[in-house]
Formats: sequence, C-alpha cells, structure tokens
Amino acid sequence: MSNLQIGGLTPLTSTDFPGCLAAVVFCQGCPWRCGYCHNPHLIPPHSDTRLAWSSVTSFLHSRQKLLDAVVFSGGEPTLQDSLEPAIVEVLSLGFNVGMHTAGTYPARLGELLPLLSWVGMDIKAAFSDYDKVTGAPSSGERARESARLLLASGVSYEFRTTVHPLYHTRDSLLQLANELRELGVRNYVLQEFRPQGCADEKVSSYPVEEFLDEELCGRVGGMFDSFAVRRG
Ligand code: SF4
Repeated sequence: MSNLQIGGLTPLTSTDFPGCLAAVVFCQGCPWRCGYCHNPHLIPPHSDTRLAWSSVTSFLHSRQKLLDAVVFSGGEPTLQDSLEPAIVEVLSLGFNVGMHTAGTYPARLGELLPLLSWVGMDIKAAFSDYDKVTGAPSSGERARESARLLLASGVSYEFRTTVHPLYHTRDSLLQLANELRELGVRNYVLQEFRPQGCADEKVSSYPVEEFLDEELCGRVGGMFDSFAVRRG
C-alpha cells in the first residue's frame, strides 16, 4: 500500500482532466515557493489534516464505473516516491490517471509518464526568469527538461501559466510563449491570477484585471494551435 502524504481530495470535477469526470488527490509537499501559490497549506511535506491513502482507495472503490479518472495534484505530486505505487493501484482499479505538475523533478516525471493519460504542466515564467517566481535556483532548467520529456512522450497535455503583473511583463510573457512554441508546445492556456487561497497579502491585493488584454492574448494565442484564457 502506498504511503502517499495527502492534503485533500476533491471527489468530483469535470475541469481538472479534459473530457473526464475525475477525482483529484492533492499531494502534500512542494520544494518551490511561488508567491502567488493558492495552495500554500500543501507546501509543507507533512500536515495535521492528512488523509490516509487507504481512505482514498476506499472512496475510489465506491466510484468505479462512475468516474473516468483520478488526477494527482498538489503541492508537487512528483516530490514523493510513494506516488508511483499509488498510480499503479489507481490504474488497477480501472481509472485513467492524470497529473498536475510544475515539472520540478524531471527524472521522476520521465518514469511516471508511461502510466499517465494526461498532464497539466504549470509553466511559471520564461525559463531564465523562473527563480524569481519559485525562489528555487535552477528551477527553470528543471521545468524545461520536464517540458521536453512530456512533449517527447506523446502523452496528452496542457501547458498553462498563471499570470500576475508582479511576476510577468508583456515582453516576458511573449518571450515565454515563444520559448514554448520553439519547444514544440501546441496547446497553451494563460490563467489570470485568482486571489483565493494566496497567503501573500501584497500579491493577493494587487490589481490583475487589465493585464491580459486582447492585444497580448491575440499575440500569444497566435503562436499555438490551441489557446485559451481563463479569467478569475
Ligand atoms: S509549484 Fe505550485 S504548489 Fe509549489 S509553491 Fe509553486 S504554485 Fe505552490
């Protein structure tokens, strides 16, 4: 049985794995420190509110043939060695498995990709700007390698960037979009920052509404086969 550290469970969602009814398992722990993080309670590796993996599997047994998929989110799910046995167990119950990741651990992502049906990969910024967002040295190189692995795997994906004017400029977003296009990304989403859950007062109170305007979205969107903007 997996010893996965879990901070929460969403029993039903239609928006976290495209085209599927899914449950979301929120894995505890993340080594990065993005100021706009909307799940800061999931950053520590352990939590008092932890949910046992056996409770999750009991729930999933009751949802066989009712749900299509299980999504592992976080925090950063690839932080934990226990993720792989958890995924294998979920597959054995007949679910597809998806994952939300920031690409923090490329080697582990590479090992997991053959088990996954879909990956939502968060791209924080242009790769040279990563450390300013994550507070973690060399995080941009890790994310770039993970992006390469995901694209080479043939697994369905969505790349997405949460946009905040304290961390991005118009030029840096265009640079980022160009870097992704050159890597081979075809499906990209810009997400307007939402203050819900963010623990940083300066970040959460900063006005963001005007930033993703039509001209900027048009220029970014023109670089991809599929592009969307998610607002508040
Ligand atoms: S990588 Fe994700 S979970 Fe980790 S700090 Fe950044 S936004 Fe939060």
